[in-house]
Amino acid sequence: MADKPLAAVPAPPAAPLAAAHGAPRLLRSEEELQRLPASERIRYRLVTADRRYHANDNIAEFVRAGELAELKAEVAAKMHEVLKALVIDTENDHNTHETAKRVAKMYVDEVFSGRYQAGPRVTEFPNAERLNELMIVGPITVRSACSHHMCPIFGKVWVGILPNEHSNLIGLSKYARIADWIMSRPQIQEEAVTMLANELQARVRPDGLALVMEADHFCMHWRGVKDTDTAMVNSVMRGAFLKDANLRREFLSLLARKQER
Ligand SMILES: [Zn+2]
Repeated sequence: MADKPLAAVPAPPAAPLAAAHGAPRLLRSEEELQRLPASERIRYRLVTADRRYHANDNIAEFVRAGELAELKAEVAAKMHEVLKALVIDTENDHNTHETAKRVAKMYVDEVFSGRYQAGPRVTEFPNAERLNELMIVGPITVRSACSHHMCPIFGKVWVGILPNEHSNLIGLSKYARIADWIMSRPQIQEEAVTMLANELQARVRPDGLALVMEADHFCMHWRGVKDTDTAMVNSVMRGAFLKDANLRREFLSLLARKQER
């Protein structure tokens, strides 16, 4: 959705944003911003910082204290309008009376929280033992939502790491927390695995990184073709896993064996 500029304050001609988007750069004081709905305030900060805010982007650093509560109230009000447009009597139907509020809370605090919360704090340990053997983590159960229909995605992720002496090691449970943070956003599976790979690459800095995600897409089950047996598999191979076919084979065969258990 293309958003309109927030106000008509003309731009200084050399503003970088004007060059990037052809839109005027808008200069607003924090006081002026306070009069806007939270979503517009946050969007204003993103636009002036020239930052992308796609469905699967994390925008936590642009959200100030207290604004998530405002955001939830805003989403609830809009969701109420959606229910109205669907001709649902939320006044008399007690089951839907609080639905707008519940959905807003579910989106912001739970299923899309990976957009609004900062990344998990993970202690990284130096590889003191100089481990250099293939490590496999998984299956990690992940849940996400497709950004096309906002339908759930349920799946499993396996991670293969080939550390070197400069790698950082992180606790096994931390892989699940990082995966959950990346997955709790509306997105498509191909981009989700790439984002997770980038995050793990940056934190662990291994020689090789392999990632496989297998997931059920509810937009296939619930709507459309209603195909119930389709799982989508994506993989990312980096570094040693790209160069070394034997390592790749070892990872995939260990993964197959883990799956049988
Ligand atoms: Zn979909």
